[in-house]
Amino acid sequence: MAKILDGITVAKFERDKIKQTLESANQKKIPALAIILAGGDPASQIYSQRLVKLGELLGIEVKVIQFPDQVDQSEIMGTIDKLNNDQSIGGILPMMPLPRHINADDVAQAIWPTKDVDAINPINVGMVAMGKSNWAPCTPRAVMAILDYYDINIAGKQAVIVGRSNVVGKPLFQLLLARNATVTVCHSHTNNLAAVVRQADIVIAAVGRPKMITADMIKPNATVVDVGINQVDDKIVGDVDFEAVEKVAGAITPVPGGVGSVSTTMVIKTLMRYF
Ligand code: NAP
Repeated sequence: MAKILDGITVAKFERDKIKQTLESANQKKIPALAIILAGGDPASQIYSQRLVKLGELLGIEVKVIQFPDQVDQSEIMGTIDKLNNDQSIGGILPMMPLPRHINADDVAQAIWPTKDVDAINPINVGMVAMGKSNWAPCTPRAVMAILDYYDINIAGKQAVIVGRSNVVGKPLFQLLLARNATVTVCHSHTNNLAAVVRQADIVIAAVGRPKMITADMIKPNATVVDVGINQVDDKIVGDVDFEAVEKVAGAITPVPGGVGSVSTTMVIKTLMRYF
């Protein structure tokens, strides 16, 4: 049976590091996180509430600025402008997906790179791609934090990422490459996905399809990290068929209790970067 890579343990470890930073900041007030929430996407609502609670736990203010679904682009842009210029705000996080009529690229570009906690501004995207910034988007950083906490060797390993989104797959490619893995990124046009994934020492699933990574796709003893969060009936499941894959893999993250548990902590950790 695979070793469980427990995200809750890693999140606590990372939170303790944040607490130490706060203590050494000598009561200096850490600027707040502003979340821009447009519309009622349930996953975004849950994620925002988790961030508010985590902020309360750590003594960091997390403000949620809620807009109705029909909000104008200009209203969101005006709010970002104010938040950029507000010294009490250290980070701005627009919850994705934004309503369809909002141009998410314009929103990303409007956030000052210094306040862009999820590295969506093209300047930060480029800095991460060049290996010049440690502040990649929060979910890929959560994956790396889990691998590091459990001392999973990365250098020289074959890593296969399934999914090439701008927030998960692509930045993870950069982070794993920077740590000297040999990285393959798969997507919906990849031929013979199972054969490609079977080459991997480290498999990262970030697709959004329940249990699509099956046991026959996994090399024995591989490390499997499941980024997926899928609602099936009243349960949350990952992109990996956990029950079957844990019998083959060497190590595996559960869902829930894996990557998602660490991602929120990484958002708050980003606020510490100037302290
Ligand atoms: P996304 O933007 O929808 O991207 C999904 C990716 O999967 C795309 O690159 C797509 O390929 C690829 N794909 C779809 N079907 C495929 C197939 N049959 N075979 C191979 N690749 C396939 O999703 P995302 O935002 O990256 O999120 C992925 C999952 O992670 C979701 O379940 C999401 O809820 C979860 N998530 C979790 C966290 C966390 O903190 N744990 C954070 C963010 C997201 P194409 O590019 O060719 O379309």
